[in-house]
Amino acid sequence: MTTAQDKPRILTGDTPTGRLHLGHWVGSLENRLNLQDDYDCYFILANMHAYTTRADKPDEIRSDTIEIVRDYLAAGIDPQRSTIFLQTEVPAIAELTWFFAMLLGYGRLMRNPTIKTEIEVKGLGDQYSFGFLMYAVGQIADILAFRPKYVPVGVDQVPHIEMTREIARRFNQVYCDVDPNKVSDEEQTQAGGVFPIPEALVGRIARLVGTDGKNKMSKSLNNAIFLSDTPKVVKKKVNKIFTGRQNPTDPGNPDNALFEYVTAFIHDEARVAELRDRYARGDNIGDGEIKAEVGDAINELLDPMRERRAQYEGNDDIIIDILRDGTRRANELAEDTLASAKQAMRLDYFPRTLTCG
Ligand code: ATP
Ligand code: MG
Repeated sequence: MTTAQDKPRILTGDTPTGRLHLGHWVGSLENRLNLQDDYDCYFILANMHAYTTRADKPDEIRSDTIEIVRDYLAAGIDPQRSTIFLQTEVPAIAELTWFFAMLLGYGRLMRNPTIKTEIEVKGLGDQYSFGFLMYAVGQIADILAFRPKYVPVGVDQVPHIEMTREIARRFNQVYCDVDPNKVSDEEQTQAGGVFPIPEALVGRIARLVGTDGKNKMSKSLNNAIFLSDTPKVVKKKVNKIFTGRQNPTDPGNPDNALFEYVTAFIHDEARVAELRDRYARGDNIGDGEIKAEVGDAINELLDPMRERRAQYEGNDDIIIDILRDGTRRANELAEDTLASAKQAMRLDYFPRTLTCG
């Protein structure tokens, strides 16, 4: 029998800045479910990172954290098989963040395109906190603390994974004498490195556009269809997807925002091909007709989630118990990683153990 310890690990997670939406589903959540049996899965609630843009909203961050766990359970993540945990209660992550911050140049961080886009899209101007920039270093620690093989993410996160890979190699080079010119990614740990070089696993739809038809669907941009939306709200939001097309006989662009949803949520390939063809020709097919079909397909996906969610509604104690249990397991692994990193950095003056609640 294989045990969790024999399986390769994955690490990924979400910032509790709102509830989970369809972008999370196609970008990452679907992959997590597919990997749940064959991988030892760690899912982080990056609640510290929520404070980087919402330091003045602790109540919201707390309730979003609980709701995202509910979203996980509704989506089918099984807390017996997968470890769901709280970032703020895994101190090794904060300690590793410091170590990695020393290996990452400030200029390199500021060239990260995801950071640039977030500053722009979230309207942070030059008012963002020092902590906001730290989140990108913290995310490297979130990942490497669990020494995973894969990180299932949407494409917006790929620059962060690239930075994570650079820092893992750099740590192994500086503190473990691994020569990056002679040692491949796969061989880093055999050559004495503390960290494996994790790979991004990008979902079926790398970047789902929001209902504004422009930006990435995002919790923070008011353009999201949430996994917890009612059937009626789903329909209403789908109806808002902007295409600019007027008449059913106008030739339309079958690569527009609406068709991103057609491709993502209608699984009958022949039907998708037919819709594309008729739309391109303006063959008497209105946007409203297509939107109704997309809305039905999304509701079909969400119905079983609604049923599962109902079992956990109104009961925060179950959620806290799941987080407590997952965080205990996460601390065991992260403490082990931290001890190896400290040994490599000659910080192993004496052993330290944490008592986890
Ligand atoms: P925020 O607006 O606070 O940044 P978000 O909606 O971008 O929130 P995150 O918590 O940053 O959500 O992302 C969680 C995961 O979901 C990441 O792996 C991210 O790449 C993925 N993801 C988020 N939005 C999308 C999207 N629209 N399409 C595909 N993947 C996405
Ligand atoms: Mg994001």
